[in-house]
Amino acid sequence: MNIQNVDKTYVAGTYARFPVTIVSGKGSLVLDESGKEYIDLGSGIAVTSFGVADEVWQKAVIEQIGKVQHMSNLYYTEPCARLAQMLCEKTGMKKVFFSNSGAEANECAIKAARKYAQEKKGEEYYTIVTLENSFHGRTLTTLAATGQDHFHELFKPLTPGFVHAPANDLDAVKALAKTHKLAAVMIECVQGEGGVIALDKEYVQGLAAFCKENDMLLVVDEVQTGNGRTGELYSFMHYGVMPDVVSTAKGLAGGLPLGATMLGEKVQDIFGPGDHGSTFGGNPVSCAAALSVLSRIDDALLAEVREKSAYLFSVFEGAEGIESVSGLGLMIGLKTKKPASEVVRACMDRGVLCLTAKDKVRLLPALNIPKALLEKAAQVILDCCRE
Ligand code: PLP
Repeated sequence: MNIQNVDKTYVAGTYARFPVTIVSGKGSLVLDESGKEYIDLGSGIAVTSFGVADEVWQKAVIEQIGKVQHMSNLYYTEPCARLAQMLCEKTGMKKVFFSNSGAEANECAIKAARKYAQEKKGEEYYTIVTLENSFHGRTLTTLAATGQDHFHELFKPLTPGFVHAPANDLDAVKALAKTHKLAAVMIECVQGEGGVIALDKEYVQGLAAFCKENDMLLVVDEVQTGNGRTGELYSFMHYGVMPDVVSTAKGLAGGLPLGATMLGEKVQDIFGPGDHGSTFGGNPVSCAAALSVLSRIDDALLAEVREKSAYLFSVFEGAEGIESVSGLGLMIGLKTKKPASEVVRACMDRGVLCLTAKDKVRLLPALNIPKALLEKAAQVILDCCRE
């Protein structure tokens, strides 16, 4: 049996995979088993921040593997402590809980919000507002947080305590605060899975002020938008707000599993021993990878991300077959005249890997993708949208 048939036989059928088996790569180029080369504009869905098999990243990972690959959270390890310090110094947050994925990072954020509100205001203050069209993960609690009904249908009952408000509608949140005892509001500044849609600045600022006035926590889900993806280290930095909790994962460790929940001043001491935990959370190899990734996301790289973003907007806006362009930084959505899945297929045939998000073609290239590759890939996309 070839690999695709082995996979179809033995791997649970949760993914509609493309008929491509990737065997290796370098940077933003990956190779399939027939030797065909692709320019990767998906980065493992915003994970491989510096592309595939990046040498600096590899060195950090291999060095740590040679020292200790795992010790449990019963002991201290340097990469975990140093990474928490780096995250706090770069964001102004105060403490970090480490897990392994975006959903887990959000679970921790939700637990922090519930514990804070219950201690501060009373047991009945557990409801969290999330936005319609949001995506926060696949566990039963983060599914409940996700404001898209079709994800919920086969898995009820979900965790109670979530209500959804339309994006960019502050009055809707204010109305929910009258009918529910709210603990927090949780947002993605750019809805990723929902179609690469950035929230309005005025709305996010109004929301932050409303949360502060009412001692509700502002939780920002930076799982997809974080770690340089939008042209700032975290997307909240574009909005001039300071969240109480920030969750991230995906690109943080550049291709190894790592989730982080950053706790701001109000909730920095919300957890005590036994309140939360994770066997693999803060794993030294993942943390060493993340230290390497984060230390490379400096002002120069962020400027490069913004410059490449401006280039992509300029080539796609108004192009034949493209109705609109959305997103922030290297998180870009294209509303195409043809169905997005058709464009993605055509691009793949021509050696460019793109993603979809709802009815959009979604691009999430590596932060350091060479400009020449980006130009080549953009040309392929333009051709596939036009023809
Ligand atoms: N939150 C957001 C905004 C996401 O985009 C995702 C995944 O796409 C998640 C949470 C879930 O992350 P994970 O798949 O690592 O659990």
